[in-house]
Amino acid sequence: PSEPDAEALQHADVAGLLPRPEAESDKYRRGVVGIVAGSARYPGAAVLAVAGALAGGAGAVRYAGPAADAVIARFPETLVTTGPPAKAGRVQAWVIGPGLGDGPEARQALVDVLTSDVPVLVDADGLRLLDPQAVRARSAETLLTPHAGEAAALLGLSREEVEASRLSSVRALADRFGATALLKGSTTLVADGTHAVRVNPTGTPWLATAGSGDVLSGLTGSLLAAGLSTRDAASVGAYLHGLAARELGNAPITSLAVAEELRRVWLDVS
Ligand code: AMP
Ligand code: MG
Repeated sequence: PSEPDAEALQHADVAGLLPRPEAESDKYRRGVVGIVAGSARYPGAAVLAVAGALAGGAGAVRYAGPAADAVIARFPETLVTTGPPAKAGRVQAWVIGPGLGDGPEARQALVDVLTSDVPVLVDADGLRLLDPQAVRARSAETLLTPHAGEAAALLGLSREEVEASRLSSVRALADRFGATALLKGSTTLVADGTHAVRVNPTGTPWLATAGSGDVLSGLTGSLLAAGLSTRDAASVGAYLHGLAARELGNAPITSLAVAEELRRVWLDVS
């Protein structure tokens, strides 16, 4: 039988996929995630991506970029460098893009991480600088996490066209880049060009708030570093992120509060 067009992860699926340490685990075996985000203009994006990454179960989070001081002030656990990603040390997955800007350092950082041999999640400003050939040439998996406006720019469509055909748009992204694509919005879709598209059943419109996607990027990158495939990391990340927001109830939420709530979601999903 052929696969269905779309499927949703259930609670039990997520419980089975969540990385948990084994008796003999050390922090390196649990996975190290590298975050390349933030700029002088948008230091907060770096803090939020790191917040998501710390909540995602990696053994350690490295940060490379100009917001190192802001990151370390909020999260002293982070291993930081103000230099390029190459100076950050070994990681098992990279997240690049939130608040990054489009300066020469940002462009070089994108080249650096895309030519690495580990999975890369590209979000936000990273998507604006992205060359499909550079992604197709990669030896490891790549995950793109656009919202509708970013997806439209990548596909040469209008935002309205993407919103009107979200399923075909997320598939088109996966095909064009030879990558996994996570299309954010009121329903989040994950396509990898092979399997059924995953539709995320969690979430709340309160997530439509500044910095929300930055937390999702860090969280999902952490899951990649722990060894999940791009498809599983993307769909589990969206699931946990949506559930954490829902736990906060029917009132305004901040992106950092969502990151902080992720721990309780981990305890609940067992
Ligand atoms: P970004 O636009 O990059 O900040 O990402 C926004 C985040 O909030 C993504 O995880 C979206 O899926 C989520 N989101 C935005 N609007 C809604 C909505 N109306 N309902 C549910 N989730 C949403
Ligand atoms: Mg965003």
